[in-house]
Amino acid sequence: MSQSSASRIQEYIGDPVSDAPPVERDQLEEIFQDIQADLRFDHELNGCLNCGICTATCPAAHYYDFSPREIVQLLWTENLEGIYDAMQEKIWSCAQCYTCAARCPFGNSPGGLVMLMRETAIKHGMESAKSVLRPFSRVMLKLISTGNQLSPDMINPEGFADWGPHISKVDAPLETLRKAIPMPTLHTTKTAWEVNLKTSVELYTIWEETGVLDSLETIDENLFDVILDIMDEKRDDYEDWMDEQD
Ligand code: SF4
Ligand code: SF4
Repeated sequence: MSQSSASRIQEYIGDPVSDAPPVERDQLEEIFQDIQADLRFDHELNGCLNCGICTATCPAAHYYDFSPREIVQLLWTENLEGIYDAMQEKIWSCAQCYTCAARCPFGNSPGGLVMLMRETAIKHGMESAKSVLRPFSRVMLKLISTGNQLSPDMINPEGFADWGPHISKVDAPLETLRKAIPMPTLHTTKTAWEVNLKTSVELYTIWEETGVLDSLETIDENLFDVILDIMDEKRDDYEDWMDEQD
């Protein structure tokens, strides 16, 4: 991030000359409390020497204006505005590789703390979360309808424009190649492998019980509605299948 865009984000938090409404202190406190209230927080933050070992080994810090040391310091010093600021962009740079957790002499997990901040950003419906997660809507749809996150027919130049010219390396005659696989259930490019109805229905229950669907509703209401319809349909199919077994 350039210096100018960093300034813009800071203004949004509460610069008196900005047109954007300042973020209320109550809201900043609520966001921090949500991060802190997670059971993982105390396990992943034990203190911080500010030594920078995490940042020195962090691949994301190498390529982006992002520092796990800074993230941990913001949380350790309870810098509410800085935490909110980091949640607008920086936390989405982390690759979740956990090299930092393996290196920290204090036993912290900066990557794990970033995950808590991301989950809180989703819970609060922050624009940063919406824009980062928007491209994953087709993955969600594929997962809910087939039980697979990715299928061969998604690996094409349209689906992976960000791969640039390298996509040609996987732009193979997939229909033909799939038919060469001995197992008939894999003779399709619409799903990576066949997931049975019972497994799909169990997955829906997990999503409901763990709050994944609530998060989805906050981030993308339209996608949430579509997914509910697919879930209802699959559950009906499963009921029919169960009746047939009786
Ligand atoms: S999180 Fe750990 S490695 Fe990173 S600055 Fe703090 S003490 Fe050092
Ligand atoms: S988990 Fe995130 S913060 Fe930690 S080293 Fe990997 S990219 Fe960096």
